[in-house]
Amino acid sequence: MSSKEFSSLYFSPTVTSEIALKIYIKVFLWMCFSDYFPQMKSYICVTCGVQYPPSTSPPSHCLISEDEREFVDKNGQPWTTREEMFGGYKNEIKKEEEDLFSLHTEPQFAIGQRAFLIRTPNGNILWDCISHLDQETIDRVNQLGGLSAIAVSHPHFMSTMVDWSHAFGDIPIFIHEYIKEWIVRPNKSIQYWNGKTKDLFDGKLRLVRTGGHFKGSQVLWWPSGANGKGVLLSGDEPHICMDPKQVTFMYSFPNYIPLSAQTVSKVLRRLQVQDYDRLYSAVVAGGGGHGVISTNAKAIVQRSGERYIKALTNNDTDDTDTDDKQNGRLLKETLDLISKKHQFH
Ligand SMILES: [Zn+2]
Repeated sequence: MSSKEFSSLYFSPTVTSEIALKIYIKVFLWMCFSDYFPQMKSYICVTCGVQYPPSTSPPSHCLISEDEREFVDKNGQPWTTREEMFGGYKNEIKKEEEDLFSLHTEPQFAIGQRAFLIRTPNGNILWDCISHLDQETIDRVNQLGGLSAIAVSHPHFMSTMVDWSHAFGDIPIFIHEYIKEWIVRPNKSIQYWNGKTKDLFDGKLRLVRTGGHFKGSQVLWWPSGANGKGVLLSGDEPHICMDPKQVTFMYSFPNYIPLSAQTVSKVLRRLQVQDYDRLYSAVVAGGGGHGVISTNAKAIVQRSGERYIKALTNNDTDDTDTDDKQNGRLLKETLDLISKKHQFH
């Protein structure tokens, strides 16, 4: 090719615009994959494990952690993403009994949530949720038959439930409508239900609103579990204590705020309707308990509830001061002070 031919080809309008286009594409791709454009990420609160909608920077607050039932780390609110968790965490899947598997993350993440996969002839459900979700987990869950639905007891277990729904074909997530105000990542997969109970999979499973810990707290009843004697999966209400012959009911576990006697009696009444022999709770107590009451669970729940109510309504157990009149006055003064404070707030 002569130099004249070369220059006419190289500097022809067509070739010049092609080169310019290639440069533009390269610059654009560099901008996309470098930090030039802020990346949209779904941030996860490290304290409670709940995931927020995609944003270019971490949220300034976590609704769940800042609630009086939870807490914010003394060093501030830390954030992560699912992608950042890859490699650093692994999900353990354990068979608890026939057709029931528990899932938890190692090392412990957030409050140490546990989720459960229940297989029924009419579909499989993920009960409660954990934040860590990687391809290995998806593959293993699919080997167990996949998922048809998700249900979550209350906001402390919502984790990355929307991503779980997407990973298994945009399956429905059943949440009680009284929890709506606590949903931090709204999504079309979330199906709110109302009322006292909701049957799933033609009655193979039942959601029961217990209230208490949260107004919309729910438990899952699996009547054919425990060889047909019935299983209750409770989230953290009732919560199995270190002594597995005891359960408890709390407004806040980390901040030790009890529920009232009236509320606990309502929770007990709502649980009474179902027959179950075995209870699984979603947080393993202090690392010492096993998070399961293998048998006689319904009677244990009832007895523990009655003990709780008795403790709240009993007369003063401090008998070191025998001046009953003074004790009564002290209580009245404290209650007056509380009601005055609340008038000003
Ligand atoms: Zn909770």
